[in-house]
Amino acid sequence: NHNYNNVPFWGLLMSSYPLLFQPLDLGFTQLKNRVIMGSMHTGLEEAENGFERAAAYYGARARGGVGLIVTGGIMPNPESGSLHMTHSLETPEMEANHRLITDAVHKEGGKICMQILHEGRYAFNPKCVAPSPIAAPISPYTPEELTHEGVLGEIDNFIKAAAFAKRAGYDGVEVMGSEGYFINEFLAPRTNHRTDQWGGSLENRMRLPVSVVEGIRENVGDDFIIIYRLSMLDLVEDGSPFSEVLVVGAAIEKAGANIINTGIGWHEARIPTIATSVPRSAFTWVSAKFKAQANIPVITSNRINSPEEAERVLKRGDADMISMARPFLADPEFVNKASEDKADEINTCIGCNQACLDHLFEGKEASCLVNPWACRETEHIKTLTVRDANKALNIAVVGAGPAGLSFATEAASRGHKVTIFDSAEKIGGQFNIAKQIPGKEEFYETLRYYKRQLELNGVEVNLNQRVSSEQLNDGSFDHVVLATGVVPRTLNIEGNDRPNVLSYLDVLRDKKPVGKRVAIIGAGGIGFDVAEYLLHDINPTDNGDHAPEQRSIDEFTASWGIDKELTHPGSLTGKGKPQHPADRELFLLQRKVGKVGADLGKTTGWIHRTELHRHGVKMMNGCEYLSIDDAGLQLRTGEVESVLEVDTVVICAGQEPLQELVEGLSVPYTLIGGANIAAGLDAKRAIKQGAELAASL
Ligand code: FAD
Ligand code: NAP
Ligand code: SF4
Repeated sequence: NHNYNNVPFWGLLMSSYPLLFQPLDLGFTQLKNRVIMGSMHTGLEEAENGFERAAAYYGARARGGVGLIVTGGIMPNPESGSLHMTHSLETPEMEANHRLITDAVHKEGGKICMQILHEGRYAFNPKCVAPSPIAAPISPYTPEELTHEGVLGEIDNFIKAAAFAKRAGYDGVEVMGSEGYFINEFLAPRTNHRTDQWGGSLENRMRLPVSVVEGIRENVGDDFIIIYRLSMLDLVEDGSPFSEVLVVGAAIEKAGANIINTGIGWHEARIPTIATSVPRSAFTWVSAKFKAQANIPVITSNRINSPEEAERVLKRGDADMISMARPFLADPEFVNKASEDKADEINTCIGCNQACLDHLFEGKEASCLVNPWACRETEHIKTLTVRDANKALNIAVVGAGPAGLSFATEAASRGHKVTIFDSAEKIGGQFNIAKQIPGKEEFYETLRYYKRQLELNGVEVNLNQRVSSEQLNDGSFDHVVLATGVVPRTLNIEGNDRPNVLSYLDVLRDKKPVGKRVAIIGAGGIGFDVAEYLLHDINPTDNGDHAPEQRSIDEFTASWGIDKELTHPGSLTGKGKPQHPADRELFLLQRKVGKVGADLGKTTGWIHRTELHRHGVKMMNGCEYLSIDDAGLQLRTGEVESVLEVDTVVICAGQEPLQELVEGLSVPYTLIGGANIAAGLDAKRAIKQGAELAASL
């Protein structure tokens, strides 16, 4: 039972996170702790049996102890959303679907608010509407300007959606007023050029959000939570200045909101706000400035992913509640584990976006790189119950990279006897290399999680052991899982054996010296990471078993031109520049003729490209590599042959699977991860494949 309402004061004092586990009294209702699961679109509502699946997904998070859940955005009417996101709440049939969700959450002792989201000009929808007919830079559709009656109709839709939400059993609603969506578009001069009573003065621009909140409150009564998500930093030109944010916040409070949530950055902003390269809790300072004048609880958010971090934010007094969204994809049991002082068992969100946001932008359902069962709860439950405990196998896993670790821990949790081997001195495989890239420090957390899971599930771990097939044939094992990973691809050109030609492993793992002018061959994820690493010349020793150092928030904000003084419109200084000049001259090359880095993640690739451009890295496409000699790298681009005068060449040209153990193996075996297929392999596929194989045994 994780109901903290009755925990005595001394009980809270004894917790490692006393502030996080303080209940919050809203008068008519109490939240059992200060953790909110923030709104995330998952694509479940549009899927077959989507609401049953969504009910299992939200139910699992409620069971995991979170104080309050906010659903993914639900449209007040279909035109207010993108064509592929048409889940609205406007009929009794839809209300019944939502009942499945609210019942599942309440059964677990949780509380849930429905987010009402009108996408305005961001809706990928030819019928999209907005205050003014100004297309967003990230959308092909120019919105239709709403008439006065049209504006009133939209306000009415918000109110009706809230009324439906109440009837469907929700504990409240969150009005989405940030991120550059419809309501935000009325507030900012950038998108509101109206001259009627809905545009011009601040009083006119905020009339719509205030009317929405007033209307909802009038309709739903006092015993229903209204959260308003307020854009505290727009991070776009002609966005709202913070002085206006304060006025809007006060008006929203007066209109009847119970809680103000923090929104950071419009979707079209060219400043990272949630990617892994953003320091933890990089934006709570702005919630703190808002909270100083607020009379109702304030929620802060963005890149808070551990109970320690959340407690620190509360202790500083930056906010009254902490919103975490992706951390609940990574681990539904986050809150329970924190409350039981088992934070080291939390599967931490590493901020990669690879299986959550990137999936949605690719039109797929969301899941999670570190938890491939996220949003597949109904399927996962079946794999847990079908297993026959009498059929426990004795399994050897070779390779303790992400694929092997995922398989080993999941298989052992199902009762199999699992022994894992690795030739390295520590678990983690390539993640030990990835975690040294500036901005990828979070990868450490995944290794900490797996290390603990190996212990908890009783996996026998044998490090510093390069396994041979004879060893595996000795009769000890019923099955062998080969998770031996990959070998870097070498380049078959003249001069490739020169001492100044290095593989990415030579640079990142073995710390071989690198010159000042460097050609990087191959512009995939690893080519970009090597460039980032070489720019900073940090050459860190592997940070091993220690938690990563927190990066400086001041450096981050200065680097991206975020106005911490809050005096500029949109809170942008216009003066963002890298805080450390590049230490090297880098050339990043690919054979393809398209944009360099085009295959990087949809929601993070632009950050990597921008970072390298800002540091003066020269990106070249359409390259044919001819040879490497004393002069440097000889290459041909189109018809032109030239020499790139570099002192080091680093090869990042992909990988080949390492399958050397297959030959001579007489025990049944399965290949997973890079050892199975190296092309296009990433940790998302490696972990998923490991988990699914374990679930099938
Ligand atoms: P590996 O991680 O390669 O693990 C294989 C293990 O097998 C190794 O530990 C090796 O020592 C062991 N082994 C091999 N042969 C034997 C043997 N005979 N006996 C004993 N042990 C053996 N992926 C992402 O998804 N997102 C990223 O942002 C990302 N960034 C990356 C950055 C860098 C710099 C690098 C190098 C990789 C990155 N990756 C990223 C890729 C990701 O790390 C790999 O896809 C993933 O590690 C593959 O997992 P795996 O378990 O198949 O293999
Ligand atoms: P990759 O993404 O497949 O990129 C390999 C690069 O090498 C490409 O630029 C490719 O482009 C080039 N190349 C391929 N064959 C070549 C050859 N024979 N000669 C010369 N160039 C060649 O692989 P990676 O960069 O090694 O990354 C490995 C995996 O880790 C990837 O699947 C990636 O998803 C994952 N990863 C992800 C991230 C992330 O941020 N999400 C970061 C790092 C790694 P051309 O063929 O055009 O030259
Ligand atoms: Fe976090 Fe990555 Fe999982 Fe998304 S996919 S929830 S960013 S770990």
